[in-house]
Amino acid sequence: MTPVAAVIGSGPAGLFATDGLSAAGWDVDVIDALPAPYGLVRYGVAPDHLKIKSILNRMRQTFIRPGVRFLGNLTFGRDIDLAVLRRHYDAVLFATGAPSDRALGIPGEELPASRSAAEFVSWYSGHPSADPAIGELLESTRTAVIVGAGNVALDVARVLAKGAAGLSHTDVPDPVLAALRTSAVRDVHLLIRRGPAQVKFTPLELREMNSLPGVSVSVEPVPLPTDEASQQQVAQRRQLATMLGVFGQWALRPVPGRQERSVVFHFLARPVAILGTGRVRGIEVERCVLDGAGGATGTGEQRVLDAQLVIRSVGYRGAALPGLPFDEVTGTVPNEAGRVSAGVYVAGWIKRGPTGVIGTNKADAGDSVATLLGDDLPVVAHRDRDAILTELAGTDVVTWDGWSRVDSSEIDLGRRSGRERVKIADLNQLLDLARERPRD
Ligand code: NAP
Repeated sequence: MTPVAAVIGSGPAGLFATDGLSAAGWDVDVIDALPAPYGLVRYGVAPDHLKIKSILNRMRQTFIRPGVRFLGNLTFGRDIDLAVLRRHYDAVLFATGAPSDRALGIPGEELPASRSAAEFVSWYSGHPSADPAIGELLESTRTAVIVGAGNVALDVARVLAKGAAGLSHTDVPDPVLAALRTSAVRDVHLLIRRGPAQVKFTPLELREMNSLPGVSVSVEPVPLPTDEASQQQVAQRRQLATMLGVFGQWALRPVPGRQERSVVFHFLARPVAILGTGRVRGIEVERCVLDGAGGATGTGEQRVLDAQLVIRSVGYRGAALPGLPFDEVTGTVPNEAGRVSAGVYVAGWIKRGPTGVIGTNKADAGDSVATLLGDDLPVVAHRDRDAILTELAGTDVVTWDGWSRVDSSEIDLGRRSGRERVKIADLNQLLDLARERPRD
């Protein structure tokens, strides 16, 4: 009697959970809204982070485990609901991540050239729902402003600063590469509302900014702001000391001559309003001071930074799942060690919020799987695993074989342009490739 689980979401948390369940003797159907697996590793990790992306080879192994199947192109809440899942599976584990973005809540945020990092990352990652208009915005953008001091802000800044030359070896879709080729972006400003001791970057990612050909990097203000609370924070997190060293070097070195592109880190700079009618023309920024308690307060002193594109990179946010409880404040599903209720579990960002690196999800998913296994759930004997496929007959499920056809096509495309892979972003094209025969 083999128990069967459904894991919703094929990103790192979902696949770590699948590994754990499979190792414990469970069969697993991994269900994803997209026809392609791997979640944020395929659609979030920056295309030039090849070493991190190489985890895909390991993730692929999950689907080769006996009893593990991929059921793609199935959106939970639209194509399949909790009642159906509970009928066909002995346990259901949600690892749906945090697909939405947080808003700044300032005037002008709704302007067409004010975008979230989630949108921008989706665009360069070839996500099927990405807005192609983002590529057009780059053509008329000389100065881009990014709000936030996390690793996603660094990814976005690096992609803009590198341009096509720095990404031509990666798997970005051809239209993305073409847009980067005609990009007019010269200056990239990062607005950081607190000081250098409060950034959420990590040292490796920060240092990477230093080695971009043709890109000058500088910081403002100089000398770097600090206070006793900052010193205490640095003493508690070694990574901060390393990053302060990097910022210190950038602050001390002579102002570089004009390079092809520039990146400027502005500390104590709080966005107040995005300016423009129809199109972004700038961003109003308030100077802040450290408040002695690890935060920063506004001084009322404002200035306008000219910009044609504003990207807010202030964190992701989980989306509510129909039939499951949801905490609107944290954007997570309330749970106890991964258990939402007996038979229903969560793992990854939808469980703990959008923090940590890919590896963080291993322990996180492991804990949820341990909870699930410890619950001693009733198991249906001799389950017909194909019954779910019969029930889903009206949908357009993409199986592992279907995805493999897409995978081969992307590799083929890559071969033709001297790359390892070229991603296909268009949903219809993905689905046509996934089908054995294109739809008539
Ligand atoms: P994050 O690390 O939580 O950073 C969010 C940033 O937004 C913080 O600097 C925060 O500043 C700022 N912020 C929030 N609200 C703001 C507001 N209203 N105005 C101005 N600034 C505001 O989020 P993330 O960059 O989206 O990254 C998500 C997770 O993915 C992180 O764990 C990250 O390390 C990980 N990630 C890792 C990699 C990698 O390893 N290479 C790459 C990408 C992402 P305060 O601190 O002042 O709130």
